Amino acid sequence: MIDDHVTQRLSPAHLAALRAELEQQRAFRADQLLQLARPEGGPFASADHEVAQALRAGARAAFFAVQRALWRIEEGTYGRCTECNAHIPLADLQAVPHADRCLPCRQAASPG
Ligand SMILES: [Zn+2]
Repeated sequence: MIDDHVTQRLSPAHLAALRAELEQQRAFRADQLLQLARPEGGPFASADHEVAQALRAGARAAFFAVQRALWRIEEGTYGRCTECNAHIPLADLQAVPHADRCLPCRQAASPG
């Protein structure tokens, strides 16, 4: 049996709101990837090759960050740090729904 006192699970309402936000972001990123994959006619048509590649890489990374968060919801591990398993504060998740690490781990990973 799951000990809710220890796990401090997100409330179903919070989880549903965050999932809806993530699904919206996933749709947005998927659309962005389609635009980027189509050099002629898209909003990035005039971007030079290197810029276009960087945009595509960034859009792919953003898409998968959102997709991984949705997978974590399915697995029941959403809202916990993937490094140290600490709980990510609800306020952080609401600011960045695909956040996968707690603040100390993020700061350790990217100094400055
Ligand atoms: Zn952590």
